Amino acid sequence: MINIKNNIDKIKAQIQQACQQNGRLIPLIKLSKPLLEQPSPVSLLAVSKTKPASLIEQAYLAGQHDFGENYLQEAVEKIELLDQLSDINWHFIGPIQSNKTKLIASNFSWVHSVDREKIALRLNQHLNDDNCHNTPLNICLQVNISNEDSKSGITIEQVFSLASVVDNCDKLILRGLMAVPEKNASKACYEQMQQLFIELKKQYPSVDTLSLGMSNDLDEAIAHGSTMVRIGTAIFGARTIKN
Ligand SMILES: *Cc1c(COP(=O)(O)O)cnc(C)c1O
Repeated sequence: MINIKNNIDKIKAQIQQACQQNGRLIPLIKLSKPLLEQPSPVSLLAVSKTKPASLIEQAYLAGQHDFGENYLQEAVEKIELLDQLSDINWHFIGPIQSNKTKLIASNFSWVHSVDREKIALRLNQHLNDDNCHNTPLNICLQVNISNEDSKSGITIEQVFSLASVVDNCDKLILRGLMAVPEKNASKACYEQMQQLFIELKKQYPSVDTLSLGMSNDLDEAIAHGSTMVRIGTAIFGARTIKN
């Protein structure tokens, strides 16, 4: 049987080690706690797509409160099943169809995959509607950093105009950028994301999140300033269903 807690502990240790190797741990004057208990500059998003609610609950009991989902219908079913775990933060990280924005706005507290103006405006509109919850939605813009035809996301050139649209939405908080680099992406790819994130941060004080790094490129992502890694396989095991 899969040991979720064990997997989470291992990933956290790997994150901490990568932070340490890249000089990203804030030095404490009085090092009263062991290194592993220092606050991490990189948060862990557990990607639970295709995995049952029972495994999410196991991760939750191991102290994991942030979960990422790609497929809306599947996600909403699990969110309803786990309704009693009220301090879970649900992150939508999949492609967005514009007719699904209402369901996304009402079920998630983060959306990492905003890639067009229409989506941002619709999310904001739903949040302004009376029948929707009234907490703001945290937004990352998805950048197609490898310029792959098959991937969603905006080009580097489009980042600042879409950022401005999101920033002007009263119910959206511009938190940063997200990317899914292609397999074996070059270092330059990660450097570009890091640079873009630094530039965006200069312009918008609300920006604090670079959502970058998955099970296979976590170290590279942390070396390039990632503040949130999205980990599926290394926590929940391989997916049998195509992702
Ligand atoms: C599936 C997925 C992940 C997790 O990938 P793993 O390789 O299983 O860690 C992260 N981000 C996005 C956008 C995904 O679709």
